[in-house]
Amino acid sequence: MGSVSKDKTPINVAIIGGGIGGLALSIGLQQYSHINVRIFEAAPRFFELGGKPNNPKDPAHQNNPAIDLDPPAGVLFGANAIRAMSLIHPAIGEAYARISTTAGWPSKESTYFDFILGQDLDGQPAGTPVASPPLSAAERHSAAHRARLIDELARLVPEASAEFSKRLVGLARDEAPGARTRMAFADGVTYEADAVIGCDGLRSVCRDFVLGGDDPLARPVFTGKYAYRGLVPMHKAVAAIGPEKARNRYVFLGSGGHVLVFPVAGGAVMNVVAVGTAKDGTWQGSWIKPMKREDIEADFKDFGEDCQKILSLMENTSHWGIYDLSPDIPTFTSAPLRLLLLGDSAHACAPHLGAGAGQALEDAHVLSHLLGACRSADDVLAAFAAYESVRRPRTRFVQCHSRRQGELLDLHADGVGEDLHALRAVLSGPIREIWNCDLEAELAKAQAKMAELLAEGGEAERS
Ligand SMILES: Cc1cc2nc3c(=O)[nH]c(=O)nc-3n(C[C@H](O)[C@H](O)[C@H](O)COP(=O)(O)OP(=O)(O)OC[C@H]3O[C@@H](n4cnc5c(N)ncnc54)[C@H](O)[C@@H]3O)c2cc1C
Repeated sequence: MGSVSKDKTPINVAIIGGGIGGLALSIGLQQYSHINVRIFEAAPRFFELGGKPNNPKDPAHQNNPAIDLDPPAGVLFGANAIRAMSLIHPAIGEAYARISTTAGWPSKESTYFDFILGQDLDGQPAGTPVASPPLSAAERHSAAHRARLIDELARLVPEASAEFSKRLVGLARDEAPGARTRMAFADGVTYEADAVIGCDGLRSVCRDFVLGGDDPLARPVFTGKYAYRGLVPMHKAVAAIGPEKARNRYVFLGSGGHVLVFPVAGGAVMNVVAVGTAKDGTWQGSWIKPMKREDIEADFKDFGEDCQKILSLMENTSHWGIYDLSPDIPTFTSAPLRLLLLGDSAHACAPHLGAGAGQALEDAHVLSHLLGACRSADDVLAAFAAYESVRRPRTRFVQCHSRRQGELLDLHADGVGEDLHALRAVLSGPIREIWNCDLEAELAKAQAKMAELLAEGGEAERS
């Protein structure tokens, strides 16, 4: 990893979007001295400690929903995601180790979540234990305050490689020898690069250039669910629901909704995600809105005392429509534009397995080392194809099971519903497959594919 031989010529790589995926990729690519990286971020800066800038008078925020209302929120990372961080660059793993929080009690570190009833169900009272799936040492997971993580990643990116207030609006490339992809930004500025990686999230512009803006598969899909996300100071949470539930990882299951809590910020804060189901299956208006107290109260009126107390403590809470992408998107690549999608722009999934950001990290692991192995810009398409060959099946699995997990946790999944015995049997199966992936073997598979494609290309040139 990271070696540069003299037979490599410089390659200019542009990264569109400085979220978890774009930042991780740029940090990984720094290890390859022939790769010149530039990140173009629509916001005036990476989201820093305390959240994204949120000043509606700032011109950079006009017509820019992606940088409005960034909520205070925690993010879970499974064992695969944590391994991916160090495989991208040891400094990411070290930074995450400094800021991550596991369960508050050592006795709970080897429990995925404690799943309990959040409401009375079939004569069983709220609070009844449903399942506490155990974790092997290799499956342990943790969480971080999202803004804190972005802040740590941003520190690992050289200032000179980042361009802010650069909202991509156009891409073009002609096939003349030596041509590059031209990027046009909303402020009228243009840049050129040998390869462009679209890390611009769920509402990606890059995806329109890959699939064509008219392709329905390019559009995010409302999953029928929404989430209220917020943070509660731990001392208030402990006073309300007691130390065991406040300081550890719990899911309160209910019919049509669930409430999930886990500690972040070294245990100083309890993260809350309360998921509900849209009655008419639609989501109106902005995809992130401020919470209305009457909405959350109506959604969880049948839930028991613990949930009522948790929800009453949520302030400054955002209300997110949960969208994902079709797992049937046929490709992540536009070969004519030398454009590739990474992270949510390629395969956004529902958040119910806490696996989306982890997939962006796995993408960054595979792609940084494949691009690093390119000898010149001529090899980039082989790297893109090799990346797709391992990443598409994997992310498709995560997308499908993330949706299904939302149905399971809301006790209305086909074939399971409110049957808690059946639920117990399937609750942690898919996530274990996600955690236990051999990421080094996946990279080796991609590297073998790239070598095969380059050999075929060389063969074709010689014949
Ligand atoms: C409610 C909820 C809870 C979640 N919880 C978890 C969890 O616990 N664990 C987990 O692993 N995942 C979780 N996720 C998913 C996770 O947040 C995403 O998968 C992850 O943030 C994707 O990272 P990304 O870098 O691909 O995209 P983003 O984080 O969306 O970053 C995209 C970046 O691109 C920029 N951008 C957008 N358009 C342009 C443009 N045209 N030009 C330039 N820049 C642009 C944006 O400003 C942004 O900085 C959750 C998601 C939701 C909605």
